[in-house]
Parts: sequence; C-alpha cells; structure tokens
Amino acid sequence: MALLADVGEFPFIEAIKKLVQAEAPRRGVRVGIGDDAAALSTTATTLATTDAVVEGVHFLRDWLTPAQLGRRAFRVAVSDIAAMGGKPRYVLAALALPAGYRLADARALVASLIRDAAGVGAALVGGNVSRADKISITITVLGQPSRGALLRRSGARRGDAVYLTGCTGMAAAGVELLKRGVSRGVLVSAYRSPPLHLDLAARLAGSGVVSAAIDVSDGLLQDLQHICRASGVDVQLDESALALAPALARAGLEREPLSYALSGGEDYELLFSVRGGERANSRVESLCSDAGCRLSRIGEVVAASSTPGVRGVSQAAIAEPGYEHFGHKT
Ligand SMILES: [Mg+2]
Repeated sequence: MALLADVGEFPFIEAIKKLVQAEAPRRGVRVGIGDDAAALSTTATTLATTDAVVEGVHFLRDWLTPAQLGRRAFRVAVSDIAAMGGKPRYVLAALALPAGYRLADARALVASLIRDAAGVGAALVGGNVSRADKISITITVLGQPSRGALLRRSGARRGDAVYLTGCTGMAAAGVELLKRGVSRGVLVSAYRSPPLHLDLAARLAGSGVVSAAIDVSDGLLQDLQHICRASGVDVQLDESALALAPALARAGLEREPLSYALSGGEDYELLFSVRGGERANSRVESLCSDAGCRLSRIGEVVAASSTPGVRGVSQAAIAEPGYEHFGHKT
C-alpha cells in the first residue's frame, strides 16, 4: 500500500489535478491547478472565508474516514458563505498530511472534497500540500453574493423574530459518543456530515426580510451572542421553542438535552432574524418548509442595548459556554 512518503508531493498533486478535471465545474476558471496561482473570474464583490480542521483539536483520526474528513472540511468552511447568503465558486485546499498517510486515503479525502464542492457549484482551483505530524486541512472558499444581498450579523433590530434551522446539539453529543468509542447513530452522523444550507440561505437573502444571520459553529448561545453584539441588541430566547432531537435524550449523555442544544457547537445550522412582522415570518417559514428544512422560532429581539446579550437562558446552560479556541471563557 503506497504511502505519501513513497510517491512524493508531485504525483499526489497530479492525482488531484485529474480528479478536478473529472469532477469540478470549470466556469470562471481561467487557470486552475498546475500553475503558480489560479486565475479566476469573480464578481465585483467576492466573499472570502477560510477554516481549518486539525487532528487532535477538531477530530481524531479514527472518528472519520478520509472521505468523511474531506467532505466535513469543505462543509465547515462553506458554511460561512451560506451564513452570508452567498454562493461558493472557488475552493483552495491547504493539506498538511503525515508522510505515513496512505496515498489511497489522501486521494479519497481530496476526491470527496472535490465532489461535495462540485455538488454546490464550486471548483477546487489550488492549494498546497505539505508534510506534518498531524493532519490539518485548511479550506479557503471564495464566493459571490446571491441576488445582490448579503446577510450580516449586524442588522437585527427590536421586534425582529429569531429563527433557527434544524436541531442544535447533535454534533457535540456525537463527539461525546465518539470519544466513548460509539461510531454510529444519528448524533455521530450529525458531527460527521454537517448540513449544507446554501440554497436555503440564498433564498433567505433574496427574500429581503432577513435582517441578520450567522451559522452556528460555536454553540447556539455563543453565536446568538455574536448577533446581539454586532447588532447592539438583546434577544429574548424562548428555550421551550428549541427543537430537541429525540436522540439526545436516549443516548445516555453527560448533560441534559437542552444544554447540548444551547451550547454544543459544530452544528452549522443557520440562525437568523426576520423583520416585517407575521407576513415576513410566514414567508421565511414557507421558504424553509419548501426546502424540507426544520425551522424553529426561538426568540425575539427585544431592545437596543449598551450591554447586548441573550436573555431567558437557564442556569444549567450557562454553566457550559460554547466552544472557544485557546480555552478562553466568555
Ligand atoms: Mg460562521
């Protein structure tokens, strides 16, 4: 079984190039993989985001197959484009892989990334390969605003309704199960395969009634707090309106289901506010039901505030803050 150390960097890059030629969209790509830099056609406003998944920090090697890892790395990164209501077009991948990593696994990882990106109209156009002790995959996504509108964190105003797609807390519970050696079930799947809300987010952006949005990566409370701070408002959260996945209660977890839903993290669901009263609310509710996406109205923007924050949170949830790199508790 060939290892990366046996074949070297350039044959691996050649393999990636062939996968891209076979699977990735070519629209707008003047120069793709194989030159010093990619040359791309872009719109006047280009969205740009980057995200890393690092072995030992975000995952352990036996939690994910190489294909699952490639897909997850793409989805984690592209989620920020969805949160802005944009469409992804180009992807750059910086892969740090151990010399003892199998070539077949490296190919499977990249092929899955390329395929998942192609499924939403985005092409891998470049990146870097380097040797490292641990796996680290840094994905940069360039995108364009859809229908001209950008969703920002800063637009929530008093009276807006607050909505959340899906059920939060499942991925964090999945990580807890993976740490115990459980390798299947809906919670583990929620961690391995984050949702893609790009089409829905573009429709929400185009609706003209979404006033602020963010994707839930660090935990619902923490990300709602980001909207509060950016918008200078308080949000009254209705905990009883949160959709709790039945599996959270059945899995024998360390904490209450509500605690995972509020502060779990890595959900990649959409959290957004809606302005325009019940008519606007019905509009987004039907957009989500047309997309087959669960939607919960979880609160309301109640005031402009000099100390913006989330109100109505139970003590149990506050005890478990959302994820923060470097261990700083907010
Ligand atoms: Mg984000």
